[in-house]
Amino acid sequence: MRLIDKVTLITGSGSGIGRSTALRFGEEGAFVIVNDLDAVNGEETAKQIRGNGGKATFIQANVADPQSVQELVKQSHEKYGRIDVLFNNAGISGVGAIHETEPEQWDKVIEVNVRGVFLMSKYVLPGMMERKSGNIINMSSCIAEIGLARRASYSASKGAVLALTKSMQVDYAPYNIRVNALLPGTILTPFVEDFLARSYDDPHIAYESLRKRQLSGDLGRPEDVAQAAVFLASDESKFMMGSPLYIDGGVVFG
Ligand code: NAD
Repeated sequence: MRLIDKVTLITGSGSGIGRSTALRFGEEGAFVIVNDLDAVNGEETAKQIRGNGGKATFIQANVADPQSVQELVKQSHEKYGRIDVLFNNAGISGVGAIHETEPEQWDKVIEVNVRGVFLMSKYVLPGMMERKSGNIINMSSCIAEIGLARRASYSASKGAVLALTKSMQVDYAPYNIRVNALLPGTILTPFVEDFLARSYDDPHIAYESLRKRQLSGDLGRPEDVAQAAVFLASDESKFMMGSPLYIDGGVVFG
């Protein structure tokens, strides 16, 4: 086991990549704090981890709300005494070119995807700084590096997360805190199914066009990203600092 007794907090782990990572972390011996806005899905993730013999607690919180985040961090510390690994995974999709995007839609995507990372990190970092030990994984996307049609707000948010990751790494390296980013390609989760349904008349044609962009010949699965998250959360990646890790089936070359 690679994460024995590490206290790990994963935002947005009621679904998709977050849930898959939470289950893997549980199998690797971590204490998993499952967070999500959605209490039913979040509780279900924690239940599945415990059902597999792992250790998990669900705490509902909105990563974009400072009070909610402070309460989440407080409860996590009360239960486990520390947070060793923070995975800033929660995120929402934004569909549309700039002329199709309303200011409120833009703000919502930036609020969850960027402000959420800022707030979670802001309130978790003091404990890590005090202990001179910590590991933060930020969820960016390969869209931070390649142009994709009609993803204005979303691509801006994930580019910001990548830039923020590098800035954070410089600020917190003196405290023995590592900060790295995951850059998945297209991973088949409810998030992508929703995007396909909202963006195209025929989701099957859309799926095929996405599939053909991959050098791998198919879309990724949540487990593909979960494996990479385990690596970043473990000491196996101890020489990685401020790095972007691609898990994209080669889509950046497609
Ligand atoms: P998903 O929709 O399956 O899961 C996202 C989870 O985040 C949901 O359970 C949702 O309830 C939760 N969430 C949303 N807003 C929240 C908030 N304010 N506070 C707390 N929880 C909140 O999506 P996914 O595909 O698993 O995506 C997870 C992350 O990976 C996102 O940041 C996404 O941008 C990123 N990503 C996904 C893909 C992909 O192809 N699926 C590719 C690159 C990056």
